[in-house]
Amino acid sequence: MKKFDYVIVGGGIIGLTIGCSIKRKYPQSSLLLIEKEADVAKHASGRNSGVLHAGLYYAQDSLKSKFCKEGSKLLIDYCNNKGIGINRCGKVIVAASAEELDILYNLYNKACANKVDVKIVDEYELDEIEPCAKTYEKALYSPATASFNALGICMSLKKDLTSEGVQFLFNNKRLELIDNNTIHTSIGIVNYGTLINCAGMYADKIAQSFGLNLDYLLIPFKGVFLEATDLIGNLKTHIYQAPNSKLSLLGVHLSPDYQGKIKLGPTALPCLARENYNWLSNLKFNEVKEVVWSEFKMVIHNKNGFRDHLLVELKKQSKQGLINHSSKLVKNIKQFNFNGWGITGIQPRLYNLANHTLIDDFMVKSINSSIHIINSVSPAFTASFAFSEYVVEHYL
Ligand SMILES: Cc1cc2nc3c(=O)[nH]c(=O)nc-3n(C[C@H](O)[C@H](O)[C@H](O)COP(=O)(O)OP(=O)(O)OC[C@H]3O[C@@H](n4cnc5c(N)ncnc54)[C@H](O)[C@@H]3O)c2cc1C
Repeated sequence: MKKFDYVIVGGGIIGLTIGCSIKRKYPQSSLLLIEKEADVAKHASGRNSGVLHAGLYYAQDSLKSKFCKEGSKLLIDYCNNKGIGINRCGKVIVAASAEELDILYNLYNKACANKVDVKIVDEYELDEIEPCAKTYEKALYSPATASFNALGICMSLKKDLTSEGVQFLFNNKRLELIDNNTIHTSIGIVNYGTLINCAGMYADKIAQSFGLNLDYLLIPFKGVFLEATDLIGNLKTHIYQAPNSKLSLLGVHLSPDYQGKIKLGPTALPCLARENYNWLSNLKFNEVKEVVWSEFKMVIHNKNGFRDHLLVELKKQSKQGLINHSSKLVKNIKQFNFNGWGITGIQPRLYNLANHTLIDDFMVKSINSSIHIINSVSPAFTASFAFSEYVVEHYL
C-alpha cells in the first residue's frame, strides 16, 4: 500500500495551486495528484476565456470578491516570474440601452465598494480607449483586467510541483473510498492523511462518495467561442456587455487573448452531460437523466429568469446569431473575420436542489480527513492562487 500525507484529486488550476500552497506550507510532506485524464488542464482550466478579472462584479462579502483581486495580483506575479505571456489590455463594459446604463452605474458602485479601480467614461473617452466599442452614452473602464495564458500557467505549475517531488497519477479511472483515509486507485490502494477534492465538474459526486450529504448538483453550461485569425492587434481591450443576466453570467465579450488573437463568446447553454463538449460526445445514460431532469426543474421553477436565459442563449448557437448578438457591443463587427469555432468549455454551476437557484460563490466543505472544493465557479482561475492559500490555511 502506498502512503501520502496529501492526495489531491483533479489536475485543474485549483488542484495545481492547492498543491503549491501545501508544498509551501509543508515542504517535507508527500503529495500525490490524481487525474483521470492524460494530462493537466483538460477541462475548464484549459478551456476558458482566459480573462484575468479585476473583481468588480462580486458581492462585497463573497469569497469571489475577497480572492479575485488578491488572486489576480498573485497570478500576474507568477506569470512575470516565469516569463509566461500576459496581456494587460484592460476592458470596457458597454451599455446598449438606458436600462443597461443603470446596470453600469450599479456595477460602478459595487466596484468602488470592492476598492477596484474603475472609471465611468463618455463616448469620446471610450473612443480613445477602444475605438471598436460602441455604447449608449457612457461605458465603464477597468484598466486592471487582462488576458492570461491558461494552459501555459497550468503546465508551469505542473513542472514546479514535479520539481518539488509531487507525484502525478494520470489516466486514473478508479477512485473509490475504502474507509477513512484509504482509497482504491488504478495503481492499487493508497493511504492518505488528507484528501483534497478539486475535481471541478465532478466535485459534487466525489464529495457524496466520501459521505458528504449535499443538497446540490453541478449542472453543465456549455460555452463556445468564435475565433478570428486575421486583423490581429485591431482590438485594444476586452469589450463586455453590461451584465444583465440574473444567473450571474458575465455574457458575451469580444476579447484579445494573451497573444492578441481575437475571440468572441462564450455562450452559456445548459447541455446534456458534464463533459458533453460536442453533439453526442460523453453521454452516459444516468448522468444525462439526472442533468436533463434538473434542467427541466429549472425551467419549471424559472428562478433567476432561467427561461429568458435559455431563449437568449438559443439564439446565439449559430455563428450568425452570436455575431448579431454582439453587434450591439462593437461598431463594425464585420471587420472581424470569424473563421470558425474555437475550443468549447463547460462551466459547472451549482444547483440548489431545495430552492432551485444557482449558487454564486466558491464553496468548500470537509468531512473525515477530506476537503471538497464543491463550487469552483468563474472567476476561479483568476482567484486560484489566493483562494488555494486560504483553503490550505483554513482547512489543513
Ligand atoms: C467557457 C468558460 C470561460 C471561463 N472564463 C473564465 C475567465 O475568463 N476567467 C476566470 O478566472 N475563470 C474563467 N472560467 C472559470 C475557470 O476556468 C474555472 O473556474 C476553473 O478552471 C476551475 O478549475 P478547477 O481546477 O476547479 O476545475 P477543472 O479545470 O475542471 O479541473 C478539474 C479536474 O478534475 C479532474 N477530475 C474530475 N473527476 C475526477 C476523478 N474522478 N478522478 C480524477 N480526476 C478527476 C478533471 O479531469 C479535471 O482535470 C471559465 C470557464 C469556462 C468553462
